[in-house]
Amino acid sequence: MNTDDPASLSTTLEDEIALAAEAYGWDDDVVVAVVRTGIEASFAPEALRQTLLGALAATGAPAVACSQCGIQAAGGPPLDWVVEYDARRGRTYVCQACARRHLRSIEGKLDATWW
Ligand SMILES: [Zn+2]
Repeated sequence: MNTDDPASLSTTLEDEIALAAEAYGWDDDVVVAVVRTGIEASFAPEALRQTLLGALAATGAPAVACSQCGIQAAGGPPLDWVVEYDARRGRTYVCQACARRHLRSIEGKLDATWW
């Protein structure tokens, strides 16, 4: 999602995000995650990225908590967290450390022929 040529396309980044949110049914958490991912994945200098991430956190985006260990992240889920969807529990988040531990647990149960 971008605005490579906003003058000729008559759009803004805000408009593009709003259109995507409407088309895909994104709630505020998803919009914040998309914006955060865009900042983190950008080629902007690190200082600018940190400034933008700080500004995003200051917007009052809700903190999210890891469903496994409870650690919290201000301003929405970090890029390296796993987002899970479950009909019963809704959207939950798992931090990188817990996701890695869970994956290693699964790998440890595989038959030796897999390795
Ligand atoms: Zn965790």
